[in-house]
Amino acid sequence: MNMPTVAVVGRPNVGKSTLFNRIIGERKSIVEDTPGVTRDRIYATGEWLGKEFHIIDTGGIEIKDEPFQKQIAMQAEIAIDEADIIVMVVNGREGVTEDDTHVARILQRAKKPIVLMVNKIDNFEMRNDIYEFYSLGIGDPFPVSGSHGLGLGDVLDEVISHFDNLNIEEETDDSIHVSLIGRPNVGKSSLINAIIGEERVIVSDVAGTTRDAIDTKHTVDGVDYTFVDTAGIRKRGKVYESTEKYSVLRANVAIERSDVCILVLNGEEGIREQDKRIAGIAHEAGRAMVIVVNKWDAVEKDERTMKEFEEEIRKEFLFLDYAPITFVSAKTTRRVQTIYPLINLVDESHKRRVQSSTLNEVLVDSILMNPTPRDKTGKKLNIFYGTQVSVAPPTFVMFVNDTELMHFSYKRYLENRLRQAFDFTGTPIHIITRQRN
Ligand code: GDP
Ligand code: GDP
Repeated sequence: MNMPTVAVVGRPNVGKSTLFNRIIGERKSIVEDTPGVTRDRIYATGEWLGKEFHIIDTGGIEIKDEPFQKQIAMQAEIAIDEADIIVMVVNGREGVTEDDTHVARILQRAKKPIVLMVNKIDNFEMRNDIYEFYSLGIGDPFPVSGSHGLGLGDVLDEVISHFDNLNIEEETDDSIHVSLIGRPNVGKSSLINAIIGEERVIVSDVAGTTRDAIDTKHTVDGVDYTFVDTAGIRKRGKVYESTEKYSVLRANVAIERSDVCILVLNGEEGIREQDKRIAGIAHEAGRAMVIVVNKWDAVEKDERTMKEFEEEIRKEFLFLDYAPITFVSAKTTRRVQTIYPLINLVDESHKRRVQSSTLNEVLVDSILMNPTPRDKTGKKLNIFYGTQVSVAPPTFVMFVNDTELMHFSYKRYLENRLRQAFDFTGTPIHIITRQRN
């Protein structure tokens, strides 16, 4: 689960996002229709020679109202805070600029491996332009061309050569990994304190593990939980930490390491576009989810208010119709105790495995109740057999006569039937169709 993180830094227009997109390749998203979920992506997974890593495009993190120089300095700091390896991109056509030197100086202080990419070296003749970048003092410059895809192999070889020295250990314990996600100020930090109280134990006896130090372990009624990235939630003060893009980035990192995500909404303010965006990432990542509406103490309410808010959530988060909702106050700790049972419930659903025989009985029944569709030529969808191929999230493969015939609406129908037959509260489920003749 723990992969190294590579951050790309550099001035605007040197080609960071071009290179970022080259490295992550084309990856299709499940919730493409959800506005804002995949647009301006700044965090993704890349792979080279079988080694996977996370990659951050810090250029996508705009820090509003800050002068340009300060912005790139902060992006460099984010890279230092978040990444194991830093890739600095410069523009080979412009030569070394003052801003490059500025960024390089910040990075040097970090004592993290830095790989220097000189971009826009579109042909062989231009290769001599890279030597002046030695003056940045951050190592050998690698010539690349983002737009032509040249030289990337050598850079990625260099990047992954640092992986072995990173000492990133695998997470082996079987506690439920939980993250609190949500935009700034919804109350994540207050809620984490309310949930785990003061008896929290930060487990970091193991030397040199920076990752454990940011988590909090907690046991309730014999169940072990790891609250992921609690240090990140509590951390305060740096200018960039309150920016929206940075909070999306943090959510990405936390979601990646979780079994269960707690989406925290602000009951006082209602639902915002950014809530949907963060929720979309968790959904796409296939994590179990509980929706917690916080600050309920501050809401003026009558007997209908909760119901209305719930309807609003269902309307705004159509793709999260499976997630249970609870209303709490971190401030008064009222109803905070409802959260643990919900974590347990959705975690069980997330890991649920159903027997093939039962699954196929449900499929046969479902098809009897609502026959499979035909296409224009009269060709009918045939589902021969279904089987669950994995858990977390539960993933089913259906063998069919023609995958083209499985329409979204019928898939949705089957998903609902599976949800009725087996308890999948709080987890997305995936249905994959595979052709068999
Ligand atoms: P970012 O601001 O650093 O993310 O830069 P972009 O990736 O948006 O690229 C800035 C501009 O440089 C765009 O017009 C790209 O098409 C162009 N560009 C990116 N890579 C290359 C390259 O290798 N060669 C050339 N000639 N142009 C490039
Ligand atoms: P975070 O940025 O999501 O971690 O949010 P914080 O936990 O820092 O909370 C942001 C603000 O909301 C702080 O001023 C908190 O005191 C306040 N707050 C948090 N939870 C509650 C709550 O349940 N009720 C009320 N009224 N205020 C809250």
